[in-house]
Amino acid sequence: MTQRLILLLAAITWGALPRAQAGALDDLPALSAAEVPAPPAAAAERARTVICVDPGHPNTFNSATDLVNGTNENRINWQVGQRLERVLKEAGYEVVMTRNAELHSVENKDRARICNAAGAALAVHLHCESTLGTGFALYYPDRQGVYDYKNDPENGFRGPSAQVREDSRAFSAVMFNAMRGELAGTLKAQGMYGDSRTAVGSNQGALTFSIFSEIPTLTIEMVVLTNKKDAEFIKAAAGQEKMAAAIAAGIRLYRAP
Ligand SMILES: [Zn+2]
Repeated sequence: MTQRLILLLAAITWGALPRAQAGALDDLPALSAAEVPAPPAAAAERARTVICVDPGHPNTFNSATDLVNGTNENRINWQVGQRLERVLKEAGYEVVMTRNAELHSVENKDRARICNAAGAALAVHLHCESTLGTGFALYYPDRQGVYDYKNDPENGFRGPSAQVREDSRAFSAVMFNAMRGELAGTLKAQGMYGDSRTAVGSNQGALTFSIFSEIPTLTIEMVVLTNKKDAEFIKAAAGQEKMAAAIAAGIRLYRAP
């Protein structure tokens, strides 16, 4: 087989994969203005590195509050997000959260804009998957996306920039190694993938909060919540602390406080 043909077959196979994880990321449209917290002081005025923590979910289209293995995705994202906020602050970072309560609804493009406006160095979006697999997986913007929500005035918005994509990939690689090490023997490391592998990303080119991001951005699918063992791990306080510590370790390796 010629090398060209092998590459072609590889591309076809690769292209067929994304939809297998179609349900993995429910990055949904943003049609209404969200309650956006007042932006803190400009980055230049601060001595400490700002990290934007986005506990994924409630928005107009998906609250992610359906019962899964005795909990729900929104609750897990919120609980781990709060622990990550505390761990990062203890490590010397300033932290900006995209929402201020478990059921506080914020649209996805606004989550990115809160992080941008805060002068954050990095953004981490916390989610859980619902698939047949197990373990954690990371997603970074691997190409420019086009925001595709016909009813939104910003339909057609393009992003993120090449620099953001490059930095996001580098951040993802550092985070993946850190999490794999910290969670070894506890949780499977599925891998790191481009946003274009997700359901929304395969349509838009990137996830919505990636398209609107002006800083390195990473989506962390912390566990597969539909997997009973993963769910037991992440429901427990000890598991949530371990997850928060692993994510904080990755952040620290990429960017000092
Ligand atoms: Zn999610």
